[in-house]
Amino acid sequence: MLPLGRVLRAVGSLQQFRCLCSKAYGDALPSSCDVLIIGGGGMGASSAFWLTSKARQRGKKLNVLVVERDHGYSKASTVLSVGGVRQQFSLAENIQMGLYGHDFIMNSQKHLGDVDLCFQPHGYLIMATSQGAEILTRNSKLQNELGARNKLLGPEALRKQFPWLCTDKIELGCYGIDKEGWFDPWALLMGFKKQARSFGAKFANGEVVGFEWNAAGALSGAVVDAGDGTQHTVKFDTCVLAAGAHSGQVASLANIGSTQAKEASLRVPLPVEPRKRYVYVFSTQGDNGPGLATPLTVDPDGTYFRRDGLGGNFLCGRSPCDDEEPDCDTLDVDHGYFDTDIWPTLANRVPCFEAVKVQSSWAGYYEHNTFDANGIIGRHPHYSNLFIAAGFSGHGIQQTPAVGRAISELILEGRLTTLDLSRMSFDRIVKQQPMFEVNIV
Ligand SMILES: Cc1cc2nc3c(=O)[nH]c(=O)nc-3n(C[C@H](O)[C@H](O)[C@H](O)COP(=O)(O)OP(=O)(O)OC[C@H]3O[C@@H](n4cnc5c(N)ncnc54)[C@H](O)[C@@H]3O)c2cc1C
Repeated sequence: MLPLGRVLRAVGSLQQFRCLCSKAYGDALPSSCDVLIIGGGGMGASSAFWLTSKARQRGKKLNVLVVERDHGYSKASTVLSVGGVRQQFSLAENIQMGLYGHDFIMNSQKHLGDVDLCFQPHGYLIMATSQGAEILTRNSKLQNELGARNKLLGPEALRKQFPWLCTDKIELGCYGIDKEGWFDPWALLMGFKKQARSFGAKFANGEVVGFEWNAAGALSGAVVDAGDGTQHTVKFDTCVLAAGAHSGQVASLANIGSTQAKEASLRVPLPVEPRKRYVYVFSTQGDNGPGLATPLTVDPDGTYFRRDGLGGNFLCGRSPCDDEEPDCDTLDVDHGYFDTDIWPTLANRVPCFEAVKVQSSWAGYYEHNTFDANGIIGRHPHYSNLFIAAGFSGHGIQQTPAVGRAISELILEGRLTTLDLSRMSFDRIVKQQPMFEVNIV
């Protein structure tokens, strides 16, 4: 067998190598399937895993097809994320999905076979000024009642536990002492995909560019551009929309959000669009710096950092204010954003970060739900055979196990049987009942 280094030199880079592998393994497009999943990122692959796994347990054959347009996942949020799992949310559903995400990761070999998700169990530390302290306290109470384990620390206790931290203007910090940390999103995606395939799911390369309807007006097929100049219709019984940041645009192909539609529920758009987020990597060594067990630390202004591996590398980032959103045409990184918006907070909060320099960076898309910055999970109110898993607004990778399971329950059992995520359906958008999650990082 050729050593990986030689193979990589031959094909150029790890990303190109992954592209080649994915392309080589793309399945042929069939003319029909039971369940068509649009998008093969974390949500789509998890849905395929759960659907095929449950069908198999019941001795049933279910033809599940996942169609993915970006076979190397070069722009998928899943592989560009920083892989955090936490329970430090404000909504019960997000807390419960974070708990299940952690449980799934801890039992990943039972679910997915031979995978190593490289889980780092170092928790989150979310800090608040006097303005946010009450909300932090309230959220922590709910999180612990639901099964999370975190504790509130005042400035003195924070300094004692994290001697590298400057607690200037900090009133309170919430530190996750168990069930929180980060993992390798690529490994999770490949685990879902490999196991779903072994249970019979097909993963084909192609872009869904349109839909077909039957005489009764129900969705009956998708038009898939295979990327080789040909288009194919794939008939389906049920469709899952898991197209990440582009889910709103794909939904519009099914006339969702059309102002011409007769039915009110069809006139409501799926409010999911891309928002560009930068991740910067810097390196620092030294005795006074944050050690190996440093949590993913979030400043009250939203700036976050965490360690990455054992070599003194750190990742950091921060979501911009609404009126400063960068354009999303490319995934180019704005290097000035680190200097103007991130470094000042880092240097103030962790004095030994004063002299750090960016070593590398990347950008990815949050699949932003413009309605309430929260996932939309469940059946579409007009199309009874269309299920949505989209809009997770930057906290979705940890929710892939719970969301894929929920989608499989809705399709195979007709109802949610484990977590009650019913409030998160598209209905809340039709009824104009937002579920705001305050802990968006
Ligand atoms: C910088 C960054 C940091 C993040 N950090 C975290 C974190 O710490 N913790 C956390 O929980 N979450 C995090 N997230 C969010 C997380 O990555 C996403 O919520 C999650 O990965 C969404 O998965 P998805 O499958 O919906 O989307 P994706 O992974 O984007 O997959 C959707 C797929 O659909 C495909 N597609 C789109 N349109 C079509 C079409 N017409 N036909 C066929 N295929 C199509 C796309 O090519 C894509 O591969 C982060 C995201 C980013 C960008």
